[in-house]
Amino acid sequence: MASALDIRGVRKCFGKGEHTVEVLKKIDIDVAPGEFLILVGPSGCGKSTLLNIIAGLEEPTEGAIHLGGRNVIGVPPAQRDIAMVFQSYALYPTMNVADNIGFALEMRKVPKAERQRRIQEVAAMLQITHLLDRRPSQLSGGQRQRVAMGRALAREPQLFLFDEPLSNLDAKLRVEMRAEIKRLHQASGITSVYVTHDQIEAMTLGSRIAVMKDGVLQQLGTPDDIYNRPANTYVATFIGSPT
Ligand code: ADP
Ligand code: MG
Repeated sequence: MASALDIRGVRKCFGKGEHTVEVLKKIDIDVAPGEFLILVGPSGCGKSTLLNIIAGLEEPTEGAIHLGGRNVIGVPPAQRDIAMVFQSYALYPTMNVADNIGFALEMRKVPKAERQRRIQEVAAMLQITHLLDRRPSQLSGGQRQRVAMGRALAREPQLFLFDEPLSNLDAKLRVEMRAEIKRLHQASGITSVYVTHDQIEAMTLGSRIAVMKDGVLQQLGTPDDIYNRPANTYVATFIGSPT
């Protein structure tokens, strides 16, 4: 079967001339349809840059990105059929939860009845049906994060990108939302790439894990591979010693 996402020989340099910094060095990652891939590594190793390249917010210096077999280099973000969830989930403050979830659908001229149906379905999935009339300011941090996910989910994208979505939440909520994201992925089956610097999050959420350091992919494997058969001492110590 064709891969859902194929990252091939991707390099990224920032800056010019002698000030050039290579933050991604020939990254190759293949993501199967329906897979939940974790991208883990310390702060500054290039995770967000890679995610932004997949989303089309940055262009790679070299290499190719294929989405469902289609080369998307040069294709603008809005035409990539990707939804992204960040740690800072900017909800529209003047809209209620239902309108926040439905906004992207309205922009795409999805008819009202279909929109309502999709909002209800997503709200039920995220258990926020009782919050649909509220404004973002009337929600807790965890509830806002659920709405942000609902907004992404309502679009039924072919790919989900998460950039450390839980890092602003307290420890208890983080564990709860981790389970929620896992459940959502199982329910929707949408191919996902999830960035984190948290080893425990990586080990509990991923079907496969890509470990990065200094712009280099160190190992790509199942949690079992990474834990029991680390490719090098870096992977062994990184996974073995949570920060
Ligand atoms: P991570 O998400 O793993 O913390 P990033 O992808 O944000 O890492 O950053 C990787 C490296 O690239 C860092 O050293 C960062 O300073 C640098 N970087 C990111 N974006 C830019 C940019 N627009 N211009 C210059 N350097 C950048
Ligand atoms: Mg980052």
